[in-house]
Amino acid sequence: MDESTAACLFCKIVEKEIPAEIVRESDTALAFRDINPQAPTHVLVVPKEHHPNAAELAAASPALLADVVALAAEVAAEEGIDEAGYRIVFNTGAQAGQTVFHVHAHLLGGRALQWPPG
Ligand code: 5GP
Repeated sequence: MDESTAACLFCKIVEKEIPAEIVRESDTALAFRDINPQAPTHVLVVPKEHHPNAAELAAASPALLADVVALAAEVAAEEGIDEAGYRIVFNTGAQAGQTVFHVHAHLLGGRALQWPPG
């Protein structure tokens, strides 16, 4: 772990240094419940490797981005929200609401979701 990732909250969750309610894990990604859920299912899916946001992950490692989305889809099926539908959101940058700069997919479902988002 280098200096930039040493302070990263989601790196610490990946390393199991900070507790989280983990719902699913693959070799490359980890899914855990959001501490402040915005829907009946609100799970965060992160690559185990540190990348700041979705754009930088896509540029550095498209396969890893696919792993994150695939794990989110597995969690959606496990939670029983795949037939009704769900949303996968990558807030990217401060104006979009990104507060943790370790890329994470928000998997949201279990209720009707509004569009456009706020
Ligand atoms: P962002 O705003 O960056 O798109 O999303 C960050 C998310 O991380 C927020 O939804 C927030 O509730 C969640 N979060 C922040 N700190 C923690 C934590 O310590 N544990 C968990 N499980 N989620 C967290």
